Amino acid sequence: MAEKYNICLDIGGTKVLGAVFDSKDNIVYRYKKKSAENGASSQNVEEVIISVVDELLKATGIKKSQLNAISAGAPGVIDQGNGIILFTPNLPFRNYDIRTPMEKRFGVPFYIGNDVNVGVLGEYKYGAARGYKNVVGFFVGTGMGGGLILNGSLFTGNQFKAAEYGHMVLEPDGPMCGCGQRGCLESFSSKKGISDYIRQQAARGRQTEMAEHVQNGVFRSKYLKKAIEHNDRVTMEAIERACYYLAIGTGNLINTLSPEVVIYGGGVVEATGDMIRDRVAESVDRYCMPSIRATVELKTAELGDDSNIYGSLAMIHEAEAEKKPAKKGSASAKKTTAAKTTARKASTAKAAAKKTSTAKAAAKKTSAAKTAAKKTSAAKAAAKKTSAAKTTAGKK
Ligand SMILES: [Zn+2]
Repeated sequence: MAEKYNICLDIGGTKVLGAVFDSKDNIVYRYKKKSAENGASSQNVEEVIISVVDELLKATGIKKSQLNAISAGAPGVIDQGNGIILFTPNLPFRNYDIRTPMEKRFGVPFYIGNDVNVGVLGEYKYGAARGYKNVVGFFVGTGMGGGLILNGSLFTGNQFKAAEYGHMVLEPDGPMCGCGQRGCLESFSSKKGISDYIRQQAARGRQTEMAEHVQNGVFRSKYLKKAIEHNDRVTMEAIERACYYLAIGTGNLINTLSPEVVIYGGGVVEATGDMIRDRVAESVDRYCMPSIRATVELKTAELGDDSNIYGSLAMIHEAEAEKKPAKKGSASAKKTTAAKTTARKASTAKAAAKKTSTAKAAAKKTSAAKTAAKKTSAAKAAAKKTSAAKTTAGKK
């Protein structure tokens, strides 16, 4: 059989990342493209997504007929079952059916899920959460994403909106969050939250090398990494504050879900190594029950930027695994039924045959009996004749 390939995409607000996987789940080629300029339409973004797949095919020389499936993670609320982007904060899609044009264009199944859900699925199948069945994932990026694996499968809740850990309210009078609420975990512990704190302190006249990097929004991860290396005081306070609230959020989820593992990923975690995990681990005991804390591990994500790509791949495998047993099941069920029917027919036939042979046997017996009876009567007649002859002879 010719080699089949999967294409996995990470559709972000600023870029679309694509990777080609061979049938052994090895990445054979990668490609990245800016997703769209500000003010781009959903049509524009769809064109970018299609062009990334085209480019991946062109660069690798893979034909459409060699494609197995295409899969993607994207930000927002996504109807994973139907391939519809219901709402996304950073892209122009609203109730947008992305599956139909993709499947039409490339002629293979297309899957899509929320990027953080997909990222946690990636860590669960290929990364830090391999081998566990109940996984809580925090992805600390520009915002704060969450994902949840329950009893070995991705839990997306009613209408695919579950696991918004970033919007747990931890301080009802806290800073404004992008969602309209105050004091969400995201408002403290995401890039936004950390940037806000640094900006405030800089505005108060405190010295920090991060001041210029948070002037127009959130910092880039590489600057955070440097500031930590330099032990920038204000930056370290911002990290402390982020980890304090992340520990409270983690404790609440440990109590609620009793996962086997909590993983921390995303741009901020990647830039800071195990710092986030270690600091949360130091203080989380204060915010959860000791008996539940005792059975949970805290880990740093392993796949980095690739968690989404690998999660997309996992989505393809899961969808295929779901299809196969169903197909196999129904086919074998059909076979079983057919076999049963055949067996039933056979046994009926056998029974009929038996009956026939019994009937034949009975008939044989009957005829034998008749013959016997005939013989008997013949014998009797002969005997009669003999006795008659004897009598006659005796009389004589
Ligand atoms: Zn919020």
